[in-house]
Amino acid sequence: MPYSTPKILLIYTGGTIGMVKDSETGALKAFNFKKLLQNIPELKLLECKIETISFTEPIDSSNMNVQNWQQIAEIIEDNYEEFDGFVVLHGSDTMSYSASALSFMLENLSKPVIFTGSQLPIGDLRTDAKENLITAIQIAALQEKGKPIIKEVGLYFEYKLYRGNRTTKISAEHFNAFASPNFPELAESGVHLKINKELLLQTSKAKKIKVNKNFEENVIILKLFPGINHNILTAVLAIPNLKGIILETYGSGNASTEAWFINELKKAIKQNIYVINVTQCSGGSVAMGKYETSTDLKKIGVLSGHNITTEAAITKLMYLLGQKVSPKVFKTVFETSLRGEMY
Ligand code: ASP
Repeated sequence: MPYSTPKILLIYTGGTIGMVKDSETGALKAFNFKKLLQNIPELKLLECKIETISFTEPIDSSNMNVQNWQQIAEIIEDNYEEFDGFVVLHGSDTMSYSASALSFMLENLSKPVIFTGSQLPIGDLRTDAKENLITAIQIAALQEKGKPIIKEVGLYFEYKLYRGNRTTKISAEHFNAFASPNFPELAESGVHLKINKELLLQTSKAKKIKVNKNFEENVIILKLFPGINHNILTAVLAIPNLKGIILETYGSGNASTEAWFINELKKAIKQNIYVINVTQCSGGSVAMGKYETSTDLKKIGVLSGHNITTEAAITKLMYLLGQKVSPKVFKTVFETSLRGEMY
């Protein structure tokens, strides 16, 4: 029996891909995406059925927030049975955060959710949008014996499909705007579409999708720099209702050994604020205890983000806090890979 044509839902949230220049100011602003889609006749040639849904007010992704993530998750939840795959069109600025957030929101995902966007608007002569959009749809529609091949949240940009929660935006100039420093790409588009099947996440078929929309917003990312003083650290830790900090440390998880620094963090941890150590290096992993400058952090109960990106770390923290994970198991859960986001 022949398998039916895959059905893909295109979710337009905003971003450069669908923007046009304001005739007065020249600034790029979001535009009605349905109109722009009519300019891509190539979409009709794809071997899948495409439907589109758009945010009522498409946004520049610099305005992305938890409510918007919930909205994307809800659209996927409401259309999960009807569609075989989802492509989320999103501004590139915060795409890695959103792809990470959605990877945590969508538990037991068994269909592809592919984020993409572009550096130039789709109407621009030199646009990168067409290739990104067309291949992202093709990837979302890939099937084997009528079942999706990709069963996770991916990010497709400039000929590469990455695991979404492993990515980071690295360029505001180049078409090649993303990198996945600690995990190889899931697929590469050349003359052929080469899928690295052994790297793909496999979800148990028996488990039903669960959409976790509760995210805690009282969290912060604190990037260390030589010269950070007691005053600053005390002020950050005194933020009312603060629940967790992603501490961007040096190298393999190192920080100042000064007593005031360690004592302030120790006090915060005693007050049930989670402190997670991630590296500010673009590649590599935290290894607390490797140097003297990270030994105390480990002793006072700082958690290890291993080789997670900052984007995945902050969204994982928001997710686990939102799930009210018990303090007894929080360390174990955070330090375990839930969606392939760390080793
Ligand atoms: N500022 C835009 C956004 O993130 C940039 C882009 O779309 O690439 O929405």
